[in-house]
Amino acid sequence: MHDKTLAELAAALGDGKVSSVELTEHFLRRIESLDNRLNSLITVTAEQALETARAADAARARGEAGPLTGVPIVHKDIFCTEGVRTSCASRMLDNFISPYDAGVVERFKAVGCPVLGKTNMDEFAMGSSNETSYYGPVNNPWDTQRVPGGSSGGSAAAVAARLAPGATGTDTGGSIRQPAALTGITGLKPTYGRVSRWGMIAFASSLDQGGPMARTAEDCGLMLNVMAGFDERDSTSLERPAEDFNARLNTTLKGLRIGLPREFFGEGMDPGVARVIDEAIDFYKKLGAEFVEVALPHSGLSVPVYYVVAPAECSSNLARFDGVRYGYRCEDPKDLMDLYMRSRGEGFGPEVQRRIMVGTYALSAGYFDAYYLKAQKIRRLIADDFRQAFEQVDVILAPTTPTTAFRLGEKTADPVTMYLSDVYTIAVNLAGLPAMSLPAGFSEGLPVGMQLIGNYFDEARLLGVAHQYQLGTEWHQMAPAGFE
Ligand code: GLN
Repeated sequence: MHDKTLAELAAALGDGKVSSVELTEHFLRRIESLDNRLNSLITVTAEQALETARAADAARARGEAGPLTGVPIVHKDIFCTEGVRTSCASRMLDNFISPYDAGVVERFKAVGCPVLGKTNMDEFAMGSSNETSYYGPVNNPWDTQRVPGGSSGGSAAAVAARLAPGATGTDTGGSIRQPAALTGITGLKPTYGRVSRWGMIAFASSLDQGGPMARTAEDCGLMLNVMAGFDERDSTSLERPAEDFNARLNTTLKGLRIGLPREFFGEGMDPGVARVIDEAIDFYKKLGAEFVEVALPHSGLSVPVYYVVAPAECSSNLARFDGVRYGYRCEDPKDLMDLYMRSRGEGFGPEVQRRIMVGTYALSAGYFDAYYLKAQKIRRLIADDFRQAFEQVDVILAPTTPTTAFRLGEKTADPVTMYLSDVYTIAVNLAGLPAMSLPAGFSEGLPVGMQLIGNYFDEARLLGVAHQYQLGTEWHQMAPAGFE
């Protein structure tokens, strides 16, 4: 049962082969017996999940079921969930019970998806390895000595280990795609503004975007059909006509123009990753796609630009955590300043503090023009590179990450090496484009992800291009040993 995709589980529910209560109980049992090896969940919400499952079964009996009614999922612990701890993997919010649901959470509730729990992540989504979590690192199910990637590492590990058939994630600089690649699952970062940021705890508001993580492209489309849509409570939410993101799954790829950015195929890419990507290119050639080299000349600046823009926005967003209104408060403050300083000093971990300091510096009078304003200008040039590339091609293909999953602790001592694990994903966020990662093979027993980048609003095409690959390959079906 747990090896089935969301689409297969939805069909089994529709045919009456299984009930939502049975499914939910099954996944809860797996979480109980297997998650001690992974630490992928911060909070398990068994009772609420079963209550939703009973309601979903009743709705189905009345003939009121939608495509995902009764299929259990997990939410990244960055999404506010009413009555349930929403920690963002920070000591700061360890005691925070959200009084309301995020827009994304409401939407899954409305269709009747039981929520098994809240997934572990990097603290405030700052990280690429899930090692900055207050609740401890997540282990990669393919090798528990290695990281699952981050920041949505708990969501990725849970789906890869078949503890849940689908999960929500968020992607500010790669946090859906990079962990999807490192754990051998499929993840989609939608066009900026597609998915409501209401109730999704803010890291860098101009970059943050929620999206689905599941085993297949088809499953990601099913989830995106639930998640996407206008929300007037999010001022950057896009007002677009409703769309079936799986409408183009079966479109032929004959004549599809795929761009290969020459800047992404240079130094720094692991030979095992390069081999897998070459094989994927051959696969698409056989389906009739044409390859064109494209140039993204400013992409080399995306990591430095991101590490000005994202910390700047985070320093402003995280100012709300002051020890007064909610969240962590230090013991026995001497005065107001002591309360602020110790609450923030004790409540935030080192990576979050580093970002707040970098961001505050970049925004301060005298440095604003030199850093923040300059970064915003280069950000526009990066977006323009993509605009020009999409005049020549329909989609862009690249690796998702330069290497496979690294060892726990391997990059924690040097933040800059850690930041470089997002070299291929960050430019997409700066431009606001949709992109996905899908399993494309293995190198030394570890999964390798292929990234597909689309033009604005082109999620349906991306999902189609990924689905055609998954029809002809089996990488997305492989399960890590011990979690089959
Ligand atoms: N690894 C990047 C960072 O630490 C991206 C994180 C994310 O996408 N949330 O900022």
